[in-house]
Amino acid sequence: MTTTAARPVFRFAPSPNGYLHLGHAYSALLNFDLARQVDGRLLLRIEDIDVTRCRPDYEQAIYDDLAWLGIAWESPVRRQSDHLDAYVAASDRLAAMGLLYPSFESRAEIARLVAGEEARGPWPRDPDGAPLYLGTAKSLSADAVAALKRSGAPMALRLDMAAAIRHAGALAWQERGGGPDGETGEVAARPEAWGDVILARKEVPTSYHLSVVIDDALQGVTDVVRGQDLFWSTSVHRLLQALLGLPAPVYRHHALLRDETGAKLAKSLASTSLRDLRAQGVMPADIRRLAGLPLHP
Ligand code: GLU
Repeated sequence: MTTTAARPVFRFAPSPNGYLHLGHAYSALLNFDLARQVDGRLLLRIEDIDVTRCRPDYEQAIYDDLAWLGIAWESPVRRQSDHLDAYVAASDRLAAMGLLYPSFESRAEIARLVAGEEARGPWPRDPDGAPLYLGTAKSLSADAVAALKRSGAPMALRLDMAAAIRHAGALAWQERGGGPDGETGEVAARPEAWGDVILARKEVPTSYHLSVVIDDALQGVTDVVRGQDLFWSTSVHRLLQALLGLPAPVYRHHALLRDETGAKLAKSLASTSLRDLRAQGVMPADIRRLAGLPLHP
């Protein structure tokens, strides 16, 4: 009997909260090229849990832009908003393990509490530069939690990071690209750098971290190729994979394209959206050249 090795699975996972720009094209084409090189599969995933910012016309534009670039992906496309129950099941498991706790502060209240701490001295910030959560809600009594739930205050479920790390132990991931300081190969995860991250909110019962980990596992993703801005998020992803008993893909974080001023390309730079470039007569081959990718990979 012959067994065929499973084909590697890649994915491109944009959020439909704006038009794709050159940086997205680079990431999508890199996934497409790498998948082709190893006879792998390429999945497209629509990461639309942020209902306030995602729009169906942006989603349609993603399909149009990727098809124009010559990228082929498998159907059906997984849309995260269709799978909230899978994320809720995962957060229920973490809650049953005693690793989640509810917090009720508004963003403004957190900013005020952090400012109070910072008046006394430096307060730690996460790899994205946001101050760590102070852990205030961790010591709320059961009665106080029940009262706050009834009051309609904003509610978020946070990972008790110290407890989660005690549970999972030391972790690492395989990096085939590189981090901001050139980290590559086996990279030690540092989830503690993020503090008690939010994994779900009352209005959206999941988060980027939780959904991405569940989906990569459910879809059998073996190779995560994405921008370096998400490099240190991988620490949280490894931790969640370990806690939930999910396999770890290998990661390849790529450098971000910069504009002429050296700034990261952002969706707000409308002049670089793919649809604008297309309207200006730019061809898919030009996009490959602009993104620094080979024309015939
Ligand atoms: N949805 C994320 C973004 O658009 C990418 C997530 C990922 O590749 O892990 O930035």
